[in-house]
Amino acid sequence: MVTREPISDLAHIRHEFGEHGGVNMSIEASSTFTVMHPETMPDLFQGRKAAQDGCYLYGRHFNPTVYSLSRQLAALEGTEAAYCCASGMAAISASILQLCSHGDHVVSSSRVYGGTYALMHDFLPAKSNISTDFVDITDLAAVEAAIKPNTRVIFTEGLSNPTLRVADIPALARLAHRHGAQLVVDNTFSPLVLSPAALGADVVVHSMTKFINGASDIIAGAICGSTEFIQGLMDLHTGPLMILGPTMDPKVAAEISLRIPHLSLRMAEHGRRALFLAERLETEGIPVSYPGLPSHPDHKLAESLRCRHHGFGGVLTMDLGSEAVADQVMDLLQNRYRFGFMAVSLGYFDTLMSCPSVSTSSEMSDEDLESSGVESGLLRVSVGFTGTMEERWQQLHGALMDAGVLKTELPRAG
Ligand code: PLP
Repeated sequence: MVTREPISDLAHIRHEFGEHGGVNMSIEASSTFTVMHPETMPDLFQGRKAAQDGCYLYGRHFNPTVYSLSRQLAALEGTEAAYCCASGMAAISASILQLCSHGDHVVSSSRVYGGTYALMHDFLPAKSNISTDFVDITDLAAVEAAIKPNTRVIFTEGLSNPTLRVADIPALARLAHRHGAQLVVDNTFSPLVLSPAALGADVVVHSMTKFINGASDIIAGAICGSTEFIQGLMDLHTGPLMILGPTMDPKVAAEISLRIPHLSLRMAEHGRRALFLAERLETEGIPVSYPGLPSHPDHKLAESLRCRHHGFGGVLTMDLGSEAVADQVMDLLQNRYRFGFMAVSLGYFDTLMSCPSVSTSSEMSDEDLESSGVESGLLRVSVGFTGTMEERWQQLHGALMDAGVLKTELPRAG
C-alpha cells in the first residue's frame, strides 16, 4: 500500500489524452476486443496477458476507459490500484465477498448507511453465512472485544452516514492488523477530506454517486486497494466483480473522469458552506452536528486526521426533536424558501435534505437506530454551493422561524 500525504491537486492524475490528441480521454465503447493471433486468447484467459499490458478481453473484465478512471481513483486515494463498478453497494459487497468466505465474520460500525447495514445484517448471513457484529466504532475496546478468530474485516465509514462520527482509522487499522483482519473504509462522505489508505486502511470504497461525481445524475462505485486485491476482484473464477458483474459503463467512466479534476474545489466549497451554516445554527441554539464545530465529539480527531485543504465535509445534521418538525422544516425549505430539495443522496451542487430514520437508515432495527443515534427528528442536510451564503442562511432561518423552532427574527440588513 502506498503511504503519502493526501493530495490536493488532482490535475496531475489524469493519465490519458484522447485518440486524436483530445484533452479528454476517448471512450472505448467496445464490449469485446480483437486479438491479432489465436494464441493470445488463452493467454488472456489464463492471465498471462492483462490490462496492465494493454491487453483486454471483454467489457465485464477490464475496459480501457473504466481502467483509466480507476487509475484516477487510485491516485485520489493513494492506493496501488483501484477499479470502478456500477454502484457504491457493488463496491462494498464485492470488497466484503473478496475478503470473506463462507463462515467468516465482520466487525462493522453500527453507524453505516442503511443499505450497507442490510447487506451485512440480512443479506450476507442468509446467502453466504458471513455474519456481522455491529459495534460503536468510536469505542475501540468494544471493537476489539467483538473480534473473533474468524473475523476477516473491520468495516467502517470514515465519516458516518448520517450521524457524522469520525472513525479513528489509524487505531482501527492497527487493531485489525493485530488480529489478522483488514480494515475497509467507506470514504463516500469524505473524499479528499480523509485519506484512509494513507492512515492505514487496506481497502477504500466509494459511492461515487455522491461527492465524487457531484451532479446526482450517475450511480457508480469504486474500490481502491493493493494491485493484488484489485486483480482478485477480477479473477475469472472467483472475482466478485467479474463473476457477479456489476460493471461500469465506459461512457459513465468518461463522464465521471471529467468531474474528478474539480472535486478538490467542490469539497472545499461544500465544507466552507457547511461550516458557515453549522456555526450560525449553533449560535441560534439549534442542536447541530458538524465535525468542524469544536462542540462535535470527534472534532479533535477529525482535525488530526483530515487534509486541511478540504474542510470537514459537506453534510451537517440538526436534531429537530420529532419527525413532524423535521418534515415541516424540509417542506418549508423546499417549497417556500427554495433552499434545497427534499431528496435522499448527497454531494450534489444544490442542497439535499432528508430525514434518515424514515429513509436512508430505515433498514435498521429500532434498537440499532437508537443505539447509533439516528433520532426520529434528525434532519440530514447535504450543503450545496449555489446561491450566496447569506441568502441561504436567511432561507434556513426563515424556515426555522415559520416552524416555530426559532423565535427571534434576523436583524434587517442595512
Ligand atoms: N455508502 C454510503 C456512505 C452511502 O451513503 C451510500 C448511499 O447512500 C452508499 C454507500 C451506497 O451507494 P450507491 O447508492 O452508489 O450504491
